[in-house]
Amino acid sequence: MPTNPLAYLGQQLDELKAAGSYFRLRELESACEAVSHADGREVINLASNNYLGLANHPKLKEAALEAVRKYGAGTGAVRTITGTLDMHMALERKIAAFKHTEACVVFQSGFAANAGTVSAILSPEDHIISDELNHASIIDGCRLSRAKIHVFRHRDVAHAIEKLAALKDEPGRKLLITDGVFSMDGDIGPLDQLTEAAEAHGAIMMVDDAHSSGVLGRNGRGTVDHFNLHGRVHVQVGTLSKAIGVLGGYVCGSKDLIEFLYHRARPFLFSTSHPPAVTAACNAAFDLLVEEPERIEKLWDNTRYFKAALKDKGFDTGVSETPITPIQVGEAKMAHAFSAALFEEGLWATGIGFPTVPKGKARIRAIVTAGHTTAHLDQAVEILAKVARRMAILP
Ligand code: PMP
Repeated sequence: MPTNPLAYLGQQLDELKAAGSYFRLRELESACEAVSHADGREVINLASNNYLGLANHPKLKEAALEAVRKYGAGTGAVRTITGTLDMHMALERKIAAFKHTEACVVFQSGFAANAGTVSAILSPEDHIISDELNHASIIDGCRLSRAKIHVFRHRDVAHAIEKLAALKDEPGRKLLITDGVFSMDGDIGPLDQLTEAAEAHGAIMMVDDAHSSGVLGRNGRGTVDHFNLHGRVHVQVGTLSKAIGVLGGYVCGSKDLIEFLYHRARPFLFSTSHPPAVTAACNAAFDLLVEEPERIEKLWDNTRYFKAALKDKGFDTGVSETPITPIQVGEAKMAHAFSAALFEEGLWATGIGFPTVPKGKARIRAIVTAGHTTAHLDQAVEILAKVARRMAILP
């Protein structure tokens, strides 16, 4: 028998188990809703990014079904071959108009949008100035571009300026990049001050609004709208996978930027486009952002209510300013054990530890949505407090 050259993977999985970082995938047996069915239980779902409850909205489902009837299940090729349906172009025009930008390109995921864009617009002689907590897809895009990467301390504008100033006489382009909302802490990137810094140093400004699309700004237009920076942020990335409720990512910006990405972004060129159902559902979701702004109001009412209730119980929810609510517990093993115990009690909130967050900063991440009722949130807080006391996380 030949030896198994992949045996080392099993050993590495054993190491993950020993470190308490091994996980099993939970199976949902129903749509992703405020109350979901998973692993044979009914649970209050504080784990998803379905911020506005659109993932199972009848208008999105109907749009998807109609699109399948008219266009079928798939597109047959990448966007540059048979993969551009009229509806793909219509969605891009709709998003561009919504975001008040000249143009938009949709990618298969937010990950592809970030990684595909950074790697397309920069070259090895260029420089990237990036927040230390930016998303993995930005980090991978930076690496793929082979540009020089300069990391600044989280949300530390002075440190970002220091990095920009140090590059003053260096050849090459400079890209300053931040998440709009940080996915693990729920804090908002200082896009206003970073944009000023980018302008002062002639840098390209890019923001990843994955957790701000549909959440921040008028009708969920994102951080550029939240800070009133229209026309000043060159590259705006968003996702269609979270508040929009479906799947995909997009880049908004100038016509030249988008045309360039059509020609040079590798996920756009080399990976098949969204199936009709996805595109149609996204299209319906953008209509709902405008037609039903009360969903966003409800999301924020729920966010304030939940955070205040957690504070009353004595929980530390860190620096979060958004529906992403971290509950600090310390060590990774404790976060995973806490999450498992919550699930047993009927609450689903993810345990997150190293390497996703720094060592000693493990947490439960609870994400409020517009679909939760006050009763769901009250019940969730009671479960959290009960389990936390039992596990000595709360006194
Ligand atoms: N950016 C951030 C900040 C994210 O949290 C995520 C999703 N985890 C992405 C980008 C990627 O988005 P998608 O899930 O659409 O690939």
